[in-house]
Amino acid sequence: MDEALRAESYRVPMAVRTVRLIGSGPKASSYPICPKCGRTMDREYQNYCDRCGQALDWRYFKRARVMEL
Ligand SMILES: [Zn+2]
Repeated sequence: MDEALRAESYRVPMAVRTVRLIGSGPKASSYPICPKCGRTMDREYQNYCDRCGQALDWRYFKRARVMEL
């Protein structure tokens, strides 16, 4: 893919729609999953993925699908 086009695509926000549940019972916590690289993020509502730099859209996060580990 063209480099300039590739850089551009990272600035177009992608919706975060999945969270991963880690742990079980009252100690379980959920982590949002980056739609681009598929890795979990430490914090919710960050503007960019701290791993791959993808811009994120949190509009659908309240209805995110829970993926159990
Ligand atoms: Zn990412």
